Amino acid sequence: MTTIQDPNTFNGNPIKRTHIMAKPIGPACNIDCTYCYYLSKQDLLEYKKGCTPKIEEHALENYIKRYIKSHNSAEIIFSWQGGEPTLLGLSYFKTVVDLQQKYCPEEVVIKNDLQTNGILLNDEWCEFLAEHDFLVGLSIDGPEMLHNAHRKNRSGRGTFRQVMKAVELIHKHKVSFATLTCVNNLTSQNPLEVYRFLRDVVKSTQIQFIPIVEQKTFRTDAPQSNTESWKAENQIKQGDKRLIPGNKDSIVESFSVSDIAWGNFLIAVFDEWEKRDIGTVFIQYFEANLASWIGESSQLCTLNPVCGKGLAMEPNGDLYSCDHYVYPEHKVGNIHNDDLDEVSYGGKQQQFGYAKVETLTTECRNCEYVFACYGECPKNRFIKNANGESNHNYLCAGWKKYFAHIDKSMARLARTYGYPVKFGRFNDTRLAKLMGKEQRHVFSVKY
Ligand code: SF4
Ligand code: SF4
Repeated sequence: MTTIQDPNTFNGNPIKRTHIMAKPIGPACNIDCTYCYYLSKQDLLEYKKGCTPKIEEHALENYIKRYIKSHNSAEIIFSWQGGEPTLLGLSYFKTVVDLQQKYCPEEVVIKNDLQTNGILLNDEWCEFLAEHDFLVGLSIDGPEMLHNAHRKNRSGRGTFRQVMKAVELIHKHKVSFATLTCVNNLTSQNPLEVYRFLRDVVKSTQIQFIPIVEQKTFRTDAPQSNTESWKAENQIKQGDKRLIPGNKDSIVESFSVSDIAWGNFLIAVFDEWEKRDIGTVFIQYFEANLASWIGESSQLCTLNPVCGKGLAMEPNGDLYSCDHYVYPEHKVGNIHNDDLDEVSYGGKQQQFGYAKVETLTTECRNCEYVFACYGECPKNRFIKNANGESNHNYLCAGWKKYFAHIDKSMARLARTYGYPVKFGRFNDTRLAKLMGKEQRHVFSVKY
């Protein structure tokens, strides 16, 4: 007899998942990327001078035990980030896997993600990563010139060649991997060079892009804090030259991407992907967008209505609301002293989570693409919009341009895969009303 499983329960109880991005070596890193938002945590979180923090073995065991205990699901995912976690050495991660097996409940599968710059990967590492089915997130920004512009070692030399060596090893050992590419002032100007390089040279089939946006005060001022840079009255209006990276008096770091460059980057990559790579290359944003157009929740926190589903953990066990909110005022607990469920679902974290949707500007609330954007990441909400409303998203103009560009394609794509189109200008309800020759023509294009 077949047992029918309730998809919302596991072992007869409601499914429960927590996600922590662990930083087992804190912000320590073997390179010095210009735009890193984490290196400065060394000063902000007041690590002792010269010390390299790490999750010590007894604390590691406690973390793994508690993290597993906070789940009730068939799969548990551990995420390791930094800084550069491979600095801890392979034996550290062998211990991680051993401890995970020690505490792994029956019928549960434990998986690991590891975000790395690839510099320390060698045959031994890659054999281990393949054997234990780690998903490696490899940071690479594109061809040599573009990558080396910001991703440099401590003596100021580009790291491209070392990363490409890691790419070779990853393929040689068949390690599962995704690439993470920062869209900054330079890569944003070269979308096709970046995308074709990732697709054809790195042979990445899972591509993540991340827009680099930092106010000059990001090292010390938490987003939405009561600091000068975040005060509503000090925010600068959309279109002002001081919001252009590299401009004299710009309030954003020169390595940041501008709003329109971000939109143009996504558009250029989308057009190329739509022409030839659907079904073979998975681009996190496009997958997330499709989910939004069909009314499902997207995998990307930045495009969802609620934040705070993934905590960040520092080596001493301190937990923060989000990886981008590792500031003293956003500490929500400690893995060793507090109940993880109470932290994850507690008042402070809930407030943080719902603030994303509750603090949308009127422009966002009335935006025809709010279903796909939800005002994007709150850390980027530091400008006044054209109506003078503060706390609007810096990237908004780019997002709007991009969403308008993909709207029809998303509807076509959804229909090709047999999904109803719930949102966008070409949604089913509107289409049913308008259905006529012209619309039939529009939707007859096949992939
Ligand atoms: S603050 Fe930004 S990165 Fe953090 S959960 Fe919210 S959207 Fe995601
Ligand atoms: S595109 Fe702009 S206005 Fe629309 S939801 Fe996103 S940030 Fe708000």
